[in-house]
Amino acid sequence: MAEFDLIVTGGTLPDGRVADIAIRGDRIVAVGALPEGAIAGEVIDATGDLVSPPFVDPHFHMDATLSYGLPRVNASGTLLEGIALWGELKRIVTVEEMVERGLQYCDWAASMGLLAIRSHVDTCDDRLLGVQAMLELREKVKGYIDLQLVAFPQDGFLRDPTARANTIRALDMGVEVVGGIPHFERTMADGAASLAELCRIAAERGLMVDIHCDETDDPMSRHIETLADETIRHGLQGRVAGSHLTSMHSMDNYYVSKLLPLIAEAGISAIPNPLINIMLQGRHDSFPKRRGLTRVREMQAAGIRVGWGQDCVLDPWYSLGTADMLDVAFMGLHVAQMSHPAEMARCFEMVTETNAAILGLDGYGIAAGKTASLVVLDAKDPVDALRLRPARLAVVSKGRVIARSPRADATLAIPGRPGTVRRRSPR
Ligand SMILES: [Zn+2]
Repeated sequence: MAEFDLIVTGGTLPDGRVADIAIRGDRIVAVGALPEGAIAGEVIDATGDLVSPPFVDPHFHMDATLSYGLPRVNASGTLLEGIALWGELKRIVTVEEMVERGLQYCDWAASMGLLAIRSHVDTCDDRLLGVQAMLELREKVKGYIDLQLVAFPQDGFLRDPTARANTIRALDMGVEVVGGIPHFERTMADGAASLAELCRIAAERGLMVDIHCDETDDPMSRHIETLADETIRHGLQGRVAGSHLTSMHSMDNYYVSKLLPLIAEAGISAIPNPLINIMLQGRHDSFPKRRGLTRVREMQAAGIRVGWGQDCVLDPWYSLGTADMLDVAFMGLHVAQMSHPAEMARCFEMVTETNAAILGLDGYGIAAGKTASLVVLDAKDPVDALRLRPARLAVVSKGRVIARSPRADATLAIPGRPGTVRRRSPR
């Protein structure tokens, strides 16, 4: 007789297979029909429900999250006022307060099945309070959420007088990814110089790179080209991500036809952040007003890995957000016009498998031998999950059930109609 700690029965996997999942300790030990008489300490009946590997967010700002309104709101709604506002806020924050906000956000994330997050942490602070707070938070949540930290010189690696030294200190303290913001440096040349140095640092230390890159409507912001070039020069292929890349929405098509193969050759991943990009970009436009998003389908067609990131929840840059990567993918598929069923399915994959690959997560996925982390959704398949953004009926992290939510069925009191309604897609 086979004994397991946890069994999830009858669920539908994202690829359409119906399978039982058996878990022992923090590992998945079997996927498929279980042996006759299998018993487990706990059983989750997922019959008719979608069972997915957990959601992954490849771009977030945990040090700023849940601070919306402190010390004031972003009146213009622009990226630049957000950066100025964060500058005001970080003069008054404490380590304890940042850890507490982070813990609260991680509760939200856990409840939504979001179990791995790459967070940028601002290194433009001589006290490095945010770095201290995020390292402490990473330790506190490691039993249920994998937090990967990026050393992010928010005020410019070269523009801020102590950013270089503080970013290197942050890496020495245990921050594991190198970040930057070339479009915020004083000149294009400084932006390029910052990328050369950041990629060299990453190569010397054997680290990954994730750059806030060309988050502007200026089509001449072409730092992604330099990032690709430096990636190849330093042999960092497959370890570098370009976040945002919004200027690409306004670049000349001929130039982009040359640029995309270069990005593909460099093995750079792209991380657009649709909720934030559609909110912040185009603020200087009247009409017609540009969409704020980079060229998602075109990059995918060129063989470039593209994941959706969340970026912000209730902070100086964004006044909403719920820690739900399905909200992110839902907005992304609208703005990028990815309406074909295959494209919608790909949007679900982007916030799960693709983002996990960008982070380089070990043991991710639903298969024997993988980490026992999964989420049971009140939906029949990935496209229905995007449409409904439904309840996470159960969230399992590293073998433990860490969150449950009830179904959101409504009761109806309409003569001649059913007593309850679930809004599942009929086909
Ligand atoms: Zn960001």
